Amino acid sequence: MHIFKEIKALRAFLKEKKARHQTVGLVPTMGALHQGHLALIEASKKANSITVCSIFVNPAQFNNQADLDKYPRTPERDITMLEGAGCDVVFIPEMQEVYTTPGRIKFDFGRLDKILEGEFRPGHFSGVGLIVSKLFNIVQPTRAYFGQKDFQQFRIVSQLVAELNFDLELVCAPTTREADGLALSSRNARLSADGRKQAQVLSQALFFACESVRHRKSLADIKATVKNMADAAGVRLEYFELADRENLNLLESVNVSVPSIFLIAGYVGEVRLIDNMLVED
Ligand code: AMP
Repeated sequence: MHIFKEIKALRAFLKEKKARHQTVGLVPTMGALHQGHLALIEASKKANSITVCSIFVNPAQFNNQADLDKYPRTPERDITMLEGAGCDVVFIPEMQEVYTTPGRIKFDFGRLDKILEGEFRPGHFSGVGLIVSKLFNIVQPTRAYFGQKDFQQFRIVSQLVAELNFDLELVCAPTTREADGLALSSRNARLSADGRKQAQVLSQALFFACESVRHRKSLADIKATVKNMADAAGVRLEYFELADRENLNLLESVNVSVPSIFLIAGYVGEVRLIDNMLVED
């Protein structure tokens, strides 16, 4: 496995591979890797000659300094995991390599970055737009892999690719979960033993909501029950919404003819977690 800290060296390596018509899959991450990340690596390995995993905790997408400071960082372990997964290239740059100048460019994704995560994390998606654009320009991948776990991010990146004419294919990979349903997340490492149990309520709420749609319960009833479930678990919800899967327009009622998705975010103690689930009738 090749490890690059510098853009120039990575570009030279990839240029030579591309000259030989090799395809490149990019998996952008912030490290503290888990099986969800490795599933993206696996998907990339199946479809591309070379898989590049980037590890960079991007300050521009953190709207909360404490969240940035406490974000888990495990670079040695990450590299060992990537080696074990058969990843070809790790790009793990220092801050000044990526931000030679302060990241001043701002992105406005319109309605899409004002709702859900955008409402509660102002500036977050602008920071995502900046780092993803940088990585796409540096690596110029054939395909780039993102997780359904961050579904709104996937929609934002799709808009970015369309608006800036990036010449690549985007792939959205399904969410990897623990046996009890909790979506894998680097932030789970910050949960206490009690918090880990409380966190189950997020996926339980989503499973309950999807099942309730199949039983034609009203959205108001579903929302009321989910609120009670979260309260009982001691989890402070920021949002729980049903949205159109294509454009993330929030829905006021269940409409099974519109492909839709439930999205949830809440605090387990100090740790903010998100999850979502596609509604299948
Ligand atoms: P992060 O390191 O949290 O920024 O995530 C890097 C990529 O991995 C993003 O595209 C995430 O959506 C994806 N990802 C994170 N958690 C999971 C999961 N549990 N299952 C699948 N993909 C995930």
